[in-house]
This record gives sequence, C-alpha cells and structure tokens, in this order.
Amino acid sequence: MESSSQTHLTEKLLLLQELGYSDRYIPEESPAIFRYRSVDDSDTDSDLRLLDVIATCLTTGKPGDVVAAAFDKREQISLVLAKSGNIDAADYAATRAFLSALREAESWINLLPFLATHSKQNVDKRVRNLHESITDLCDELKLASMSYQFPAIINQFPHSSLYRKAKYPKEPPTPQRFLFDLIDNCVRRSTGFGMEDNAPSRSQYIELFGAADSLRRAAFLTYLTSKYYEGGDSMFKGRVERLKRRLDKVCQYARIETLMRLVKRLPSVPFRWTEDHLVGTGEGSSEIRKDPMKVVEEVLGHSPSPQQTRMLSRHCPELGRNWEQRRSMILRIHPEICIILHLSRPLLSRFLSSQNNSKRLPIGCSKRSCLCCMLWIATFNKITGMSWVASSSNGKPYDNWALPGAAGEMKLIHDWNDFDKMVIRGVHRRLYNKLNTMAWENSASSDSEET
Ligand SMILES: [Zn+2]
Repeated sequence: MESSSQTHLTEKLLLLQELGYSDRYIPEESPAIFRYRSVDDSDTDSDLRLLDVIATCLTTGKPGDVVAAAFDKREQISLVLAKSGNIDAADYAATRAFLSALREAESWINLLPFLATHSKQNVDKRVRNLHESITDLCDELKLASMSYQFPAIINQFPHSSLYRKAKYPKEPPTPQRFLFDLIDNCVRRSTGFGMEDNAPSRSQYIELFGAADSLRRAAFLTYLTSKYYEGGDSMFKGRVERLKRRLDKVCQYARIETLMRLVKRLPSVPFRWTEDHLVGTGEGSSEIRKDPMKVVEEVLGHSPSPQQTRMLSRHCPELGRNWEQRRSMILRIHPEICIILHLSRPLLSRFLSSQNNSKRLPIGCSKRSCLCCMLWIATFNKITGMSWVASSSNGKPYDNWALPGAAGEMKLIHDWNDFDKMVIRGVHRRLYNKLNTMAWENSASSDSEET
C-alpha cells in the first residue's frame, strides 16, 4: 500500500473528527450491522449478545483499549479475541481469570470482583456517563411525565415486578411515583461511584443496576423518543436516546448469566488472541501535513470561499492546535478487522463452495464500531459474499484507523484492493459533502466520546 493513501485518509479522518462528524445513517442502514428483532436469526442474535458481553468484560477501559470477539465454529467451538493494542501475558491471564470466574459463578454478581480488578475503568466510565445524562435530564423527564397518560404499571415497566416487590413490600407505587423513584435512585447511586472490590461498592452497583434496568425498559422513555412526542427542543430526543444507551451499557454486565450457562456447558472452551503478523498495512506511526487548510483545499478542489473559512473556524475553533497535537500518532488496525483478517482466510474456501453461505458471522465489540470499520466490512461482505456483522455503530470517524492494505489480500478474491478503496472514497465523499453543507448548518453537534 502506498503510504500516501494512508496519510491522506488520516488527514481527512482527523478533519471529519474535528468537525464533530458522525454518519447517522450508518447505525440504521449499514449491511454490516445486525438489526436485532427485525431479522429472524436467533443464533446470530444470541451469539452477538454473548460476544458483546465478552468483549466488554475483557476491555480494561483504558483509553484506546477496545476488544472484539468472535466464535470460531469450524471444529470445536473456540473464542477468538482481538484488541487495538499489543497483546501480552496480562491479556491471557485476564481471559483465564474471566473464564474461571464464569465457571464458578452462580449469578452475574459473582463476576463483580473480576470486573473491579480488570474492567474498573470501563465500569466507572459507563456509570459516569449515565450520571451525566440522568442528572442532565432529570427535571425535564419529570416535567414531561406530568402530561403523560401512564398505562398500567405492568405495561409501563415490563420485567420490573421483582424489583418493585423488593422496594415497595407494603403498597405498590403509582406508575409516576415509581418513575420518579427510579430517576432519583439512578442519580443517587451513580453519584461519586467507583467500582471497588468490596461489599459497599458492590451493593451500590447492584442498587444502581436495579433502578437502571427498570428505567431502561420504561415505555415512557420509548414514547419520548418516538415520532408521537412533540415536546422538548430539537436536541431532546437525541439526549433521551443517549440516556437509554447509557442505561443499557450499565446493565450490560448482567447479561453475563447467559454466558455462564454457555461456559458451564463448555467448561474448557479454548480461546486465542489474534497475534497475526500483518504485513503491508497502514499501521505504525504516521506523520500528517502541517497545514489543515491544504487538506480542505485538496478535498474541495479549490480554495475555500471566505464563508467556508469562516464556518470552519466557527465549527472548529481549536483546529490549528488540535491538528498540531495529532500530527504524529500511532495508527492501528481496529480489532473488528483483525478478527475478519484472522478468520476469513480459513473460512473462505469452504464458504465459497458451500450452498448455505448466507450464514451471518457475528463480531462482538466493547465499543460501537466506527465509520471506517463499517465501510470496510460492508465492502468485504459484498465482494466475498460473507456476512460479518456487528451489533452497533456510532458512525464516527477515528483518525487512528489504519488501512489493512496488503494484509487484506485473499487468494480467491480478485478485487481485494477494493476493500480499502471504498473506505478511502467513502471518507473523501463525506468530508467533501460536510465542507460544502457546513455553511447552512447551525452548529456542529458533537457527541461526547462513548464506549
Ligand atoms: Zn473501527
């Protein structure tokens, strides 16, 4: 691969990132996303949920530490893991500790000591994000509930009867009272939370989980994000959606119970971390050009108009400084792609000769997949006929995304060069459109960093 293709891509990704860009159609429409419930494929559905939980538990939550997971079902089922940084003995030790904790656990709560030692930063970040959203929305949610017709509590808060009985042993609350209590409990239990390996911290998390789990299923929140709700400002629905996502993230660890059953069924499930030596990729240190305006000019095909320059400095007042800080960085193949590169070659010949080649191949991830991974996987699927899928995407550009280059070469696939080409084209087109439409937009709404 020519290093200039990687450099140009990195520069464009950094510009898009600075512009607060995210492709909102990708999470809805990418063929590399498996849409729960809309497709009748319960195997993929349950594998994907399991793999997402595995990846989430195995990430430390340190900046940039993203884990992806897949099952290799060719012979005996085994677990294949990949991450964005170097793999060392600690990763193997953590995986062994995780699997052994799963074998011995009686409920997800028994996994909390493992999470407190291995995933503390990730758990803390998720609770912090939830705290931010729920305190931000607390008053508006209560206000919106004043004009809401609550259905019966059983329909309003599905799967919450155990929690309700534990919390209100004498008299059941009204639906509105229950809603207010859930909101207040989420605020209170997430305040100043830090996951530690001790009883008070565990019980605070369990309390938070109880309230968050009932709240995330509330019909009221679904109503607020539906087309029927017309209150709130233009950002309101997006903020409620983000709250729902953050509630889900905090509750995701409780899905460990299905995983425990799997591990008990397959007590010695083998695992491996992908440590393939990939040749011909864009990985490694990168050096981008000094002047971001040169990139803008190149993408537009002419010097930016005075209005475009003005809008650019309004959208990204810190562009010069941020650009300077990111001029040299380390690029990585994202873990979803590592999994595909590792497993596709051995799968491909059997895949091309098989009659039943529509089978989906789920990849779990500790973080929503990015724009470039989605573009790459979609093209890969289209050309090879395989069907790799992730559960979600944030549609965001990340400037550390490395092109797989020659590492993506597959013997039986003639057009393997197109895997990268379509990412390069897709990113260029999005930046071109963004720069050209920027003048009509009010202001860039940048979503905060989220796992
Ligand atoms: Zn990615």
